[in-house]
Order: sequence, then C-alpha cells, then structure tokens
Amino acid sequence: MTKRTPMVAGNWKMNGSRSLVESFTNVLNSHTFDNMDVVVCPPAGFLSMFVAQTYSLGAQDCSAQDNGAHTGDNSVQMLKELGAKYVIVGHSERRQDHDESNETVARKAHKALADGLVPIICVGESLKIREAGQVNEFVGEQLGAIFAILDAEQVGQCIIAYEPIWAIGTGKTASPEQAQDVHAFIRETLANYQSDLALNTRLLYGGSVKPDNAAQLFAQPDIDGGLIGGASLNTDDFIAICQAAI
Ligand code: PEP
Repeated sequence: MTKRTPMVAGNWKMNGSRSLVESFTNVLNSHTFDNMDVVVCPPAGFLSMFVAQTYSLGAQDCSAQDNGAHTGDNSVQMLKELGAKYVIVGHSERRQDHDESNETVARKAHKALADGLVPIICVGESLKIREAGQVNEFVGEQLGAIFAILDAEQVGQCIIAYEPIWAIGTGKTASPEQAQDVHAFIRETLANYQSDLALNTRLLYGGSVKPDNAAQLFAQPDIDGGLIGGASLNTDDFIAICQAAI
C-alpha cells in the first residue's frame, strides 16, 4: 500500500508583515519536519522575503495566463521566481470575491502544472448545500471541472484540499467523521477517474484546524494533512499542527 507523505500548508490570506516573515523564517528553520511536507503560503509580495530551509513556499493564487494585460495578477513563472513551489487555486474566498468558476480554477491548475508549480486545489460546500444534503453532488461537480481539463497524470500531480466554506475562519470545524466522509468520497471519485489516483493523491482538510483538533482530523484514513488559515499565523500553533500530521 502506498504511504502518502503528510502535508500541512499554511494560508496566510491577506495577513502578515515583514516582521512576521522574519519570525517564521527563524522559528521554522530551527525545526526539522521529517517525513512530511510543510508549506507556507504568504501574500505573493512576501514570498521573496522568506529564507525557507526546512519547508517550502506556496502562493495563494496564480493567473491562468502567461503574461500581458492582467493588472494585479501574478503568473506562475513570476511566483516561481519568487520562490514558490506550490500554489493554492480555487480557495472559496477567491471563488467568492473574484467570481472564479470551476472552469477558471481548473485552468489555473492546468497552467500551474504546465509551468512547474504544484496546485493545491480547494473544493468544498456552503452550509446551504450541506443542509440540502447535496455535498457529494457539489464537490463532485467541482472535481468534474478539473477532470474536464486535466488528464489523469496531471490530476495525480495535484493536491486536493477539502474546505467546507462553513468551517473556514468560523471556529466551526467539521467533525472528524464529517471530514472523513467527504475525503472518502473525493478518493472514490478519483478512483473512478483512474484507479491509481485514489491511492496516491494527497487530500488535505481545511476549516478551523487548531492545535487541539488537528490530531483527530489527521488520524482519519483519507485525510493526509491540512490547509490552515488563522492558526498558520502563529508559529507555535502552526508547528503544533504540523507535528500532529506526522
Ligand atoms: C483557509 O483559509 O484555507 C482556512 C482553512 O482558514 P481557517 O483555518 O482560518 O478556517
């Protein structure tokens, strides 16, 4: 059986400062994270200020275009030059604030892979969808848009983060069982696309993960780590969450 390497990625969102970058650089580099991948995703403007030795850097979004008249956007090549290895695409805040469709998200993931970044693709439902009992249908549609543009080999290079919108930044975490159910569904959907994908693709849970609930979530069989928002801004909390993933 394939052992998937655990991963914890921190999404700073539009937070941080030069001094926070410096303290993360110092504190994280003094830790070794054996047998797991740790990723910090600050705002793009901070990427090149990090000196990341024991962890990797990721961006929070990328353009699906090469370059040109796209004011405010960052290309995959630019993010790579700034030190990123990963890029989050399709975070619910981008889907909501920037009207990003499932197809746009898939195109960004495709561009990221084509130009050498690993996409962390976010999917997840609103409370309304959950209460209507349509979680699998909704998440299945989000995944379907990815499968429409990425072939199985490309999907196999992606990381998928299940982030129920109602749990993001709200302090309401999905229970380990709720999270596991959707992760199992995602894995089954990947298997239907191509059997190897189910075994090898890393699936992360995101939504109010904290040091006191991380271990229980990460112990679920289909959860390979986490995408962490608020708690990724505090070095002690972030390191405690990373340790819970090993
Ligand atoms: C996120 O922004 O991806 C996230 C999961 O946020 P939080 O951990 O704050 O809920």
